[in-house]
Amino acid sequence: MSDNKIGRRDICKGFLALGGIALTGAAVKGQEAKPSPTPAPLDPILQDQRIADAVKRGATMEEISKLRDPVAANPQEAIRALKTGNARFFSGSARRPELSAAERRAQILAQTPFAVVLSCSDSRVPTEIIFDQGLGTLFITRVAGNVVETSTLGSIEYGVEHLKTYLVVVMGHEGCGAVKAALLSPAERSRESENVQALLNHIVPAVSSIAKIRDEKAKMREAVVANVRQQVQNLKRAKSIQNAVSRNKIAVIGAYYEITSGAVDFFETDEDLRLAGNYGERCGKWRSHLA
Ligand SMILES: [Zn+2]
Repeated sequence: MSDNKIGRRDICKGFLALGGIALTGAAVKGQEAKPSPTPAPLDPILQDQRIADAVKRGATMEEISKLRDPVAANPQEAIRALKTGNARFFSGSARRPELSAAERRAQILAQTPFAVVLSCSDSRVPTEIIFDQGLGTLFITRVAGNVVETSTLGSIEYGVEHLKTYLVVVMGHEGCGAVKAALLSPAERSRESENVQALLNHIVPAVSSIAKIRDEKAKMREAVVANVRQQVQNLKRAKSIQNAVSRNKIAVIGAYYEITSGAVDFFETDEDLRLAGNYGERCGKWRSHLA
């Protein structure tokens, strides 16, 4: 957590301690200059009241978000929050964040997630658990093969435009059955239902051009990552996403979840997300976020 965030949190707590009376500039300044080493715990009932008052006066979701103790306030903080949350998860130190009953009730007023995640329906890939996030922090779309099509794109656009999230992540995973099916021959795929075939058709172009690899596990990883890169590129073709990226409102990145270890590898740069090339060169970046 950044120093700035700690400062904002302290200011919020100071606000609550004063019973809702706005702090003067001098008081805010004093709080920043000499933060309390042991701030009082946030009173969820008072927080609920602040949010309820904001809703009554017609505050935007962005304004309401600022009244809550934010997990992240920009794309970089959002990426960091997912990385540190995943590190807690795979190292066995997950916090499994819970909300008080009062905080849960307050969530009915508005949702203020900090990131959108497009991930697979696979039962072994529960997104909030993998990133050790609690209620109301992630806006998640799950579909087999984490493909970008009309409905998933519409959901993502809603998360970006209306919920003011800071990050979009397309996450594939180890042993993805949808990607494996997309690697089958056209004759084998034709045995599936029309709807399943339509789903696989969103993946086939991405995996049809991967390098020939004998090792089945390595081949599958290359196919899953190629699909993630393709879906990120598909997402970036949407005008709404392009606009948000160009205004530095959001970052759009890829990720790969390894079921066996619990670790997520992130693809953040243009080079990481390049569609074709020698992916083996990038193996050195594997789990670079843990360094
Ligand atoms: Zn899958």
